Amino acid sequence: MTFTPHGKHLIAGAWVAGAESFTSTPTTGEGQSFSKGTPALVDQAVQAAEDAFWTYGYTTREERAAFLETIAAEIEARADLITPTAMAESGLPEARLVGERERTTGQLKLFADHIRKGDYLDRRHDEALPNRAPLPRPDLRLMQRPIGPVAVFGASNFPLAFSVAGGDTASALAAGCPVVVKGHEAHPATSEIVADAFKAAIETCGLPAGVFSMVHGGAHKVGAALVQHHLINAVGFTGSLAGGRALFDLCAKRVNPIPFFGELGSVNPMFLLPEALSARGEELGKGWAGSLAMGAGQFCTNPGIVVVIEGAEEEAFTKAALAALTATGSQVMLTEGIASAYVKGGAKIKTQPGVQELLTQMCDRREAKPFLFKVKAEDWLTNETLSEEVFGPLGLIVTVKDAAQMIEVAKSFEGQLTATLHMDEADMALAGQLMPILERKAGRVMANGFPTGVEVCDSMVHGGPYPASTNFGATSVGTMAIRRFLRPVCYQNIPSAVLPLDLV
Ligand code: NAP
Repeated sequence: MTFTPHGKHLIAGAWVAGAESFTSTPTTGEGQSFSKGTPALVDQAVQAAEDAFWTYGYTTREERAAFLETIAAEIEARADLITPTAMAESGLPEARLVGERERTTGQLKLFADHIRKGDYLDRRHDEALPNRAPLPRPDLRLMQRPIGPVAVFGASNFPLAFSVAGGDTASALAAGCPVVVKGHEAHPATSEIVADAFKAAIETCGLPAGVFSMVHGGAHKVGAALVQHHLINAVGFTGSLAGGRALFDLCAKRVNPIPFFGELGSVNPMFLLPEALSARGEELGKGWAGSLAMGAGQFCTNPGIVVVIEGAEEEAFTKAALAALTATGSQVMLTEGIASAYVKGGAKIKTQPGVQELLTQMCDRREAKPFLFKVKAEDWLTNETLSEEVFGPLGLIVTVKDAAQMIEVAKSFEGQLTATLHMDEADMALAGQLMPILERKAGRVMANGFPTGVEVCDSMVHGGPYPASTNFGATSVGTMAIRRFLRPVCYQNIPSAVLPLDLV
């Protein structure tokens, strides 16, 4: 398969260039010129999506499943192009990107299977009771229906699995919603190749071209125009707290407000319970360092904070983590902006009252080396800065005096994507006290593991109370992600001849 990214937007089946451009900044090789998005291009894409909805929103589940599988096949057909392009743009290693592509196509196929089963429709039927007194009951049926065109923002840190063909797009298309993607400036060529796979799949399946469009970024006004477009019905987003909050606020201020499903920041606390710490403190230190530094720490599930009872065993844990992090080499980050935010974040933590600097290192322009800090719970509890996410391989150890203070710290966390307990049999009583707290804080509570690595399956929740996400009832990973793009409709006494096919 040959395709050379040409710097254009894909709008309703046509490659379109705008008047202005931006230059990409790959980690290797020359930057390339890409057309900047504009509100006018966004409008074209959304209008086409609305037109397409009148067909696509009424396709059968089998037609949509076949479409999702065709997209997956078209992505696989471009594998040899996608991997080197994404490596150059993101700096991520080959094995990671191959795995991410497989996850992306696996996700598309998972949603195909999911809609074939039909459970997601949540069909209900209360039969008519014409003779009920004092009032008869009408015939009532309920089913989930697609909401119409939706907007998706490609994330910088997963150029495939959370970008153009990522979980947001897959779940929206599975539901029956046309999608307009705002590509991320960090990987525009990768985005274009994947968009080309959509173009081919749409043609093969004979679907309306407006079912999918991709507009490159280049300016905040592109994203702002997209979320404010009156024909957009919901937004899927993964990125920073600041960016997500700005877009969320725009959605809320619309004449017709719409849901903004933002997956934002998280420090993913890990609680080391005494028996587990005593049995395998060193192992936990090494394991934590590995999880923290993996992929230069550029995961939303990166376990940035560890809470541990102070003492000799905590020191053994800290020593092992420090040794492992010191031995970790520098890793290239996704963008210069992210690398500079990481260094600034480290410098900010370092100067907070009570913070002990265990490891800080000079980082070259776009590279990150791990940072490690320690602070006592008294100082952590009174300083909100210390619970903010620093995107990258930065770890903070919060030492507590005893179990009671560990519980106090647990209660003080804001919403998280994950919370982890490291525990042994003899830790069960303390774990039992922490569980009701942690399940109020996090979308996923786990034991004896590391939160990086999110399984794509029916039971996954990748979300949580704010600021982990802007909508605690939703997940952006796993089959339940489809619910974000559905709306229940009740059909009262509607003759079967005009009911949706899935209800008959
Ligand atoms: P970002 O700055 O939040 O940008 C994500 C997307 O939102 C981009 O398409 C960006 O468009 C758009 N955007 C941001 N602010 C906007 C605004 N005020 N108005 C309209 N559109 C806006 O995230 P990023 O570029 O991926 O990375 C920056 C930081 O985000 C990182 O340092 C990290 O802290 C965080 N991050 C977190 C996660 C996570 O999973 N929690 C993932 C990735 C990044 P433009 O192209 O116009 O800028």
